[in-house]
Amino acid sequence: MKVFHTISEIREFVRAAKGRGESIGLVPTMGYLHDGHLSLVRRAREENDRVVVSVFVNPLQFGPGEDFERYPRDLGRDSALAAGAGADAVFAPEVAEMYPEPTLTHVTVDGLSEGLCGASRPGHFRGVATVVMKLLNIVSPNRAYFGQKDAQQATVIRRMAADLNLDTSIVILPIVRESDGLAMSSRNVYLTPEGRRAALVLSSSLRLASEIVDGGERDAASVRRAIVAGISAEPMARVDYVAIVHADNLKPLDRLAGRVLIALAVFIDKVRLIDNVVLDLDESAADGAR
Ligand code: AMP
Repeated sequence: MKVFHTISEIREFVRAAKGRGESIGLVPTMGYLHDGHLSLVRRAREENDRVVVSVFVNPLQFGPGEDFERYPRDLGRDSALAAGAGADAVFAPEVAEMYPEPTLTHVTVDGLSEGLCGASRPGHFRGVATVVMKLLNIVSPNRAYFGQKDAQQATVIRRMAADLNLDTSIVILPIVRESDGLAMSSRNVYLTPEGRRAALVLSSSLRLASEIVDGGERDAASVRRAIVAGISAEPMARVDYVAIVHADNLKPLDRLAGRVLIALAVFIDKVRLIDNVVLDLDESAADGAR
């Protein structure tokens, strides 16, 4: 497997592969790979002749005071893991390679970027959409793979690709979890042992919400209250947001109906973690609980 640091090298790799008639799958990441990332690489391996994994901690999507500097980085480990999952190339540019000058051009996906994580991280999705657009232009893959773990990001990227007629299929794959339910994340390494235990409150409160909805509850405020109560019962946890929205347009719902995204962000000490679940419900907003 090859590791490239420059745009011209990865472009040459892609040009040669396409010249042989090969298809390209791209898995964009910020590195410190775990099984969630590797599930994307494995799927890309199945569906494409060549698989490129990008590893780039994108400063544009971090706000002031966020963890850009201390975000975990280990390219040697990432390259070995990517190769083991079937990658043909890792593209790991320096910041100066991607942004030789401060970018004056941004991609903004209006209407999907402001709520949920966008409310606590202003500019985050502009940074994400801009770097993904750059990576798609650099690698020009047939398919690009993203995780449902970052539900809002997936929605933003899918819409960007549709709006701008990108010639890349956007593939979204399910959340990969630890055996106890914690969604895998590079940021889990920030957790202390007590924090790691407390972090289970994200997945357990989402499970509780799913059970309540299974039981017939369709009132969003009631479901939300149950989630907030579950999280508040954990002393180390502080709610950033709990959102109950339509999965496709991220609009808040009063009644649960259709494809419903329940998404949350929770601080465990200073570590901000996210998780979500999508429920496929009848469009009719039936309410068996009352
Ligand atoms: P990141 O390195 O955090 O930017 O993530 C890179 C890609 O991996 C994104 O598309 C994420 O949604 C995806 N990803 C991260 N964690 C998981 C997970 N636990 N399960 C599935 N996909 C994930």
